[in-house]
Amino acid sequence: MLIPVAEIFGPTIQGEGPNVGLKTLFVRVVGCDFKCEWCDSKFAWKMDDNSEQYGDERLARRLLTMCQETNTAHVILTGGNPCLYDFGKVIDILHNEGIGVDVETQGSKTPYWLCKADTIVFSPKAPSSKQPDVKDNINEWIQTIGKTEFRPKIVIKIPVFDEEDFKFAESYYEDVVMNAIWQTNLDVKMYLSVGNTNTTEKGSIAERVLLDYEKLIERTMESGMKKVYVLPQMHTLVWGNKQGV
Ligand code: SF4
Repeated sequence: MLIPVAEIFGPTIQGEGPNVGLKTLFVRVVGCDFKCEWCDSKFAWKMDDNSEQYGDERLARRLLTMCQETNTAHVILTGGNPCLYDFGKVIDILHNEGIGVDVETQGSKTPYWLCKADTIVFSPKAPSSKQPDVKDNINEWIQTIGKTEFRPKIVIKIPVFDEEDFKFAESYYEDVVMNAIWQTNLDVKMYLSVGNTNTTEKGSIAERVLLDYEKLIERTMESGMKKVYVLPQMHTLVWGNKQGV
């Protein structure tokens, strides 16, 4: 099966999640089974003149070459939804050459190969996205992986736009993160991310993002979540809504 790729860009820093700041090459696939209202990657929903289809070995070789040319040792597969495709062989080839691989997905699909990634960032979409909840799917996958020899780092990262989203995040903390801690010995962590309320605004958006970040910190300190990370999307502070950085 060919993998449609919207863009390969970087290296640049990971802007959010557990590897924030890490020098990373980004692979953004075409296609998503969700259509979030505030998606900042709508251009990746469909193929266009800039997208390209890859066989898995050709994609892995291209990434290896780019990693070598740019002195990079980490790749993230994002989208769109990378779990619509089979990245098992790509991950194997990159791992064999010492390249780390993270995957970011909203969690609607959990293919077997996902457990090979170093870090899996599930970013379930809160009510403001107007998309279905995938909590049961993520929970079931974590319980299944907990019984295998695989020990990827697992992160639940929820972009928060409003109070309803915050309560949604709290429910994931209780029902997924705490559940995993009690029932498996997997490393599952909870991250909250400041939602970007205007993905088409030009120029610097740092002031707006930092104000929302302060509010999210304050709200989180009042919450019952005991072990939770709160971050802005670092790339929005540096580059605003610019793509490919
Ligand atoms: S799941 Fe991600 S890529 Fe898909 S529509 Fe939502 S924000 Fe966009």
